Amino acid sequence: MPKNSFYTKKLAKGCKICEEGAKLVLLITGLCNARCFYCPLSEKKRGKDVIYADEMRVDRIEEIIEEAELIEAKGTGITGGDPLLVMEKTIDAIHLLKNYFGENHHIHLYTATLDGEKVRQLEEEGLDEIRFHPPVAIWKKIEKTNFSKLIEKIEIDKGMEIPLIPHLKNETIHLLKEVDKYGLDFINLNELEFSVTNMDALDALGYVAKNDESAAAMGSEEMAYEMLELNLDTPLHYCSASFKDAIQLRRRIERRARNVAKMYEVITEDGTLLKGVIMAGKEKLKEIKEEFEIDDGLIEWDEEKQRIETSPFILEEIAEYLPYKCYLVEEYPTADRLEVEMIPLN
Ligand code: SF4
Repeated sequence: MPKNSFYTKKLAKGCKICEEGAKLVLLITGLCNARCFYCPLSEKKRGKDVIYADEMRVDRIEEIIEEAELIEAKGTGITGGDPLLVMEKTIDAIHLLKNYFGENHHIHLYTATLDGEKVRQLEEEGLDEIRFHPPVAIWKKIEKTNFSKLIEKIEIDKGMEIPLIPHLKNETIHLLKEVDKYGLDFINLNELEFSVTNMDALDALGYVAKNDESAAAMGSEEMAYEMLELNLDTPLHYCSASFKDAIQLRRRIERRARNVAKMYEVITEDGTLLKGVIMAGKEKLKEIKEEFEIDDGLIEWDEEKQRIETSPFILEEIAEYLPYKCYLVEEYPTADRLEVEMIPLN
């Protein structure tokens, strides 16, 4: 099978919405009992009972709607940690999203827990789709668990999603062949990826990055093609790390940029925001605004980053006359406002 058809014709279920970057990623808790060695969760999330809507930390559950509005979400993926460990919050989030956006707002959820009672409860509360991520320890003996019985009783869409781990090829083949009998609607295979928190574990197992620009582990993609040759009855989909980064993230960022850009910020082709930054205190704002006759809305105090911000075009003109450090700054339009580049202007 030619390489491209695997990517384009066998995209994971729900990927139309993901492709548009229109899916909110809702981490409902960082708590999880699975302890996967490849867990990519960052330190601020792993093992902590916190909520993040995309990159935005959520203190009150209602704040989820703010982020969903900013990315014009058409659906939500509830993830963790393990959402089944915090049932009350998970159900509150389902109700909140369905009540606000309507029944058509598609919600899928990931879990490593094989608990039929909890799954039934989530079905009743409005969940549209569930994706199981059985812990590695049970891949080789999945037939001895309740997975098959559990799947049989589920009425909503149900799938399994696992990473492709080359040194666990035998375990993976066993798992895939076995669950192929269970009546799953789909199986998603993800390219194994390095993260800051799993780097040491993957390194110890001898994994290296595919190339200098990728966080994907070498050998994982090749394994996808081998799994395709198993010719399973269950639809099998593969999601590469580059697909996720390049398409899903970029489109989500573009959508968010359109909604958060201030009057003085320029949206770049990549969906990042370009602005002029003056490293001066709040008390200098009025003085600079008046001296250079800058219009309202084109210069502001940024409380979060404690600096004055203005249009990049204006700052390029006036930087040489200012006794403060001035920069052209490019940053992501995400809640964490990650800076991509800072170019000094004086
Ligand atoms: S199930 Fe997911 S969140 Fe839990 S340890 Fe494994 S990778 Fe991490």
